[in-house]
Order: sequence, then C-alpha cells, then structure tokens
Amino acid sequence: MCYAIPGKVTSIIDKIAKISYFGEEKQAINEIDDLKAGDYIYAQGGYIIKKLPEAEALSILAVWKETFFDLQEVDLRLSKLDLEEKGLDKKLTIILDKAADGAVLKDSELLYLLNLEKDSEIQLLYKFANFLRQKHLKNSCCVHGIIEFSNYCNQACAYCGISTHNKEVKRYRMSKEGIFAAADTAINQYGFQALVLQSGEDTHYSVDDLVEIVSTIKKRWPCLIFISCGEVGLVGLKRLYEAGARGLLMRFESSNLEVYKKLHPGRELKSRLAHLEEAYKLGYLIITGGLIGLPGQTKEDLLRDILLTRSLHTEMYTFGPFLPHPSTPLAKTPPPPTKDILKVLAVARLADPVNAKILVTTGFETLDPEARELGLMAGANSVMLNVTPEEYSKNYSIYPNRAHSNEGIQEQIETTLSLLRSIGRAPTDLGI
Ligand code: SAH
Repeated sequence: MCYAIPGKVTSIIDKIAKISYFGEEKQAINEIDDLKAGDYIYAQGGYIIKKLPEAEALSILAVWKETFFDLQEVDLRLSKLDLEEKGLDKKLTIILDKAADGAVLKDSELLYLLNLEKDSEIQLLYKFANFLRQKHLKNSCCVHGIIEFSNYCNQACAYCGISTHNKEVKRYRMSKEGIFAAADTAINQYGFQALVLQSGEDTHYSVDDLVEIVSTIKKRWPCLIFISCGEVGLVGLKRLYEAGARGLLMRFESSNLEVYKKLHPGRELKSRLAHLEEAYKLGYLIITGGLIGLPGQTKEDLLRDILLTRSLHTEMYTFGPFLPHPSTPLAKTPPPPTKDILKVLAVARLADPVNAKILVTTGFETLDPEARELGLMAGANSVMLNVTPEEYSKNYSIYPNRAHSNEGIQEQIETTLSLLRSIGRAPTDLGI
C-alpha cells in the first residue's frame, strides 16, 4: 500500500511541474534533472519526490482509479452545504455567505466565529469549513510520518513533558544508524514519502550531525524531510536546507508575548519567529501554529495565532490542545474542550481557504478519540503518523497517554486509511 497516488507530469516550466491526478491538475516543484512531460512521479508537500517506471505507475493507478472517483463522490456528498436552514443567526449567515462568495473575512468576523457558543451554529461552522476544504482542495489528504529521535531537551517550557521539568522520564537518543533504520522502515517498508525528524532541543546533535542525518537519508531514499528540532539557529537552517531538508515544523506556540514569556523561560518569541521567517526565505515549507487552551490565552489570542500562521506563509497549520503533564508546572491546568480545537481548525480554514493544509494533531486525538474524523470534517486535511520505533516513542511523553502509543505502524496505517476511505478522502499530494 502506498500513501500517495502517482501523478503524471503534463508540463514543466522552470522548476514548476504540472501534475495530473486522474485529470485533476496540481503543481509541484521539480528538483529532478531529467524529468520530462509524460513521466510518472510521486509528489509530497508540493515537491516531486521521485520518478517511477510507467508500468509500476499504471498498475498502481489501475487499482486506485475506481476508488479515486468513488472517494470523490463520497466526499462531495458529505461536504454538501445548506445555508438555507431556518432560524440561523443572521450575522452568521451573512459571514458564511460572504465566505462562500470567496470574500476575505474581516478579523472581527473570524473572531465572531471563534466566539460562537450555540451548538447548531458551531456545527454549521464546521460544516462550512468542510465545504470550503472540498471546494478548494478536493479530497486530498496529507499523510506524513514522524520520527522522534531524541527526548533530551535543555528547555524549560512550562507545559512540556520532555522539558527539564520532568526528572522521571527515561531519556533516549537514537544513534544515527538507528535513525537511518527507522527512516528506511518508514519509507521502504511502509511507503511514507514525507518524514518529520523531531527531537527536544538537544545540543548533543550538532548542526554537523543533523546535516549528516538529513543528507544521508536524502541520498539513500527519495523523500521529503521536515526538521523539527527547535531553534537550530539561522545558519543551521541554511545548512540543513543545503543538506536536503525542505520543511520546517516549528510551532510559535502562542503569539501572545506575555503568555509566551511566562511559559518559555529564557526564550523569546521573536527568535522563534525569526527562524520561521528565515526558513521561508530559504525555501522551506512551513508547518507552524500553536497550542490551544494555555493559561491566560483568550479567543482574541487564538485569532491572532491563526492570523500569524497565515502571515508566515504557512504550508500546514498545526494547532492542538494543551494537555497537562503531571511532571510540569501546568500539571493542574485543565485541557480545553474539543469544540475549542474544532473551532480553531474551522476558522483557520475560513481564514486561509484556498491553500491551507490543516493538521489533525495527535494531541487532539489524545484529548478526544473521535478527533481525527471530527477534525477532517471541520476543515482539516492532513494527519501525521508516528513511525518512531516503539521502544523510544513511549518515552517521547510531551503529554501523557498519547493516542496510538500502543499501536504499531501497520495498525496506524490501516486505521487511518480505513477512516479516510469512509469519509471519501484519498492520500494524495495537495500540490503547492
Ligand atoms: N523541540 C521542538 C519540538 C518540541 S515538541 C521544537 O522546539 O519545536 C513538539 C510540540 O509538542 C511542541 O511544539 C508543543 O506545541 C507540543 N507540546 C509539548 N508539550 C505539550 C503538551 N503538554 N500538550 C500539548 N502539546 C504539547
């Protein structure tokens, strides 16, 4: 089973290739020298990852062909919208009508949506976000893999279970060979094409080490690599881009300066933002966002978080709940309710309707076992599966009782694909 459908190159102009997926056109950046129109490729995150032989592509496509159109039909049916419903709040209808016409919503309108409290209206917001997702991005769903290669961290983030606050957790570092083996398994055994390499802020791995890790994986296997090791420095970012990393996953956590300062002793929001801005300039795909439910955070803050994410040229929004970890200063702070997370996902879709990939995070799935389906039906279109070897991942305890922590990779893949099928989604690249 593969997690992306092969596409056919229809044209290449400079570095931009047009790719057809059963007649549906997407664009991707090409870095393969001898690629030409007519070739079959796999793309991820808007990057062409590899060419594949025509015969192999055609046999995979033959399997997908019928399913592909069936899935689109299911998705279309499930995302239909009826704005004529009776008894709706007038202001809400006006805002949604405006968004349906393609107008950019005002900040005050987005805030109005974040503040909705009536269940029928919140449900309509989710439905509307799903409608927009289908309209602009069809039924594609990104499925990335994540390898958490070290849980050592020298930071004292007040919420995080692998921060210096946690004296109980068993710390681990994967060796370079161990990381390569995990990447090999994810790419070659399970078919992942986009991998996130994540760790705490662990200076045990120098930038040279990270460069070696990224470049070795890239040399050995075709894939899209996102780095997520915290603040590696602007020079570090450049070197890792040159080594072949093409994505940065780094949340700014909270755009509220005071909240940020309180929760991240010794750290500054502007330094994190400088990384994100520099990464974009270097050509990285950006995955960023924040935590929902932090103490002191308001709905206005959440709106500003969404707007900041949009202004950072974000490829994929990652917003998830704060979950209390017993070994941290925030052990007694309750997590937010499911509806707060869904509202953020839905409003993010309304704020950035055409291009945004929006992730359903594992944190959200830990808060609510239904989260994946709920999120995908409220504007989201991406998921991330954990491909860290089990002996390590159980100690990557950023929060307790992580969802899927007792499942092997195969099981996670099967449940993901079966959910995607049931709601008409296909694991295709979403283009750029
Ligand atoms: N060192 C990397 C990765 C940090 S861990 C970096 O600095 O970006 C990855 C993410 O886990 C963080 O960005 C944070 O948003 C999330 N996280 C940490 N503790 C959490 C908690 N208690 N609840 C929910 N998410 C948490």
